[in-house]
Amino acid sequence: MRKKIVAGNWKMNKLYSEAVELVDEITIMLKDDIKSDDIVKILIPSFPYLRKVARHSHGIKNLFTGAQNCAYEEGGAFTGEVSAAMIKSLGGTHIIIGHSERRSYFHETHEELKKKVNIVLGQSLTPIFCVGESQEKRHAKEHFSVVEKQISDSLFHLNAAEFGKVVLAYEPVWAIGTGLTATSQQAQEMHLFIRTLIDKKYGKETANSVSILYGGSCNAKNAAELFACPDVDGGLIGGASLVAKDFVTIIHSFPS
Ligand code: PEP
Repeated sequence: MRKKIVAGNWKMNKLYSEAVELVDEITIMLKDDIKSDDIVKILIPSFPYLRKVARHSHGIKNLFTGAQNCAYEEGGAFTGEVSAAMIKSLGGTHIIIGHSERRSYFHETHEELKKKVNIVLGQSLTPIFCVGESQEKRHAKEHFSVVEKQISDSLFHLNAAEFGKVVLAYEPVWAIGTGLTATSQQAQEMHLFIRTLIDKKYGKETANSVSILYGGSCNAKNAAELFACPDVDGGLIGGASLVAKDFVTIIHSFPS
């Protein structure tokens, strides 16, 4: 069964005290919030705050902590890197892989992302694997082929059981942090395309069990319309996840 998921990518925002304040505000709101019990909620702070956020989230149903990236090696002489095992040891359960900011600013390749996915699954953690096209590629009507290549090059080596453990996030690059959101029609069209791709490779059971999130200027105002799309299983939220009230409103935006 597809899980409903809302993940907040805090990116490189918040000083420590502000991050603690944010997790406190969110957990206070979610504590007795029975209607969000079945929704998987993931807070994804910067590495230094991971342990604190994980501890503060403890005891709230389906509230998890994640990381924004990890190394593609298991460990050793890689100065400045953080391994999936380290993230796990701090209480992290999910790791974003292939965010467009990592792909563009840090030149992460399909091959490196493939290694990261393997490392994350090897630690029994959940990769949140991001895909999405640039504005240029959408204008050239190449958005489907871009997304297909991102998925096939970095994920299609997995067997069906492994693939079933991955969460996908469709994040059109032109919508991230720009205030430009994909229309619900554009989001549904791409999510259905991705699900069909999974179906062709792994079959219906896997295709119908993988959650595909939408990300890109999703906020408290537009989440309900996006989450109403049949193939949108939730959101990967950047800016709006930094405001507790907005993040919780997004969590409440699934159709009942
Ligand atoms: C993101 O960075 O994953 C994201 C979706 O950002 P924003 O919501 O700010 O567009």
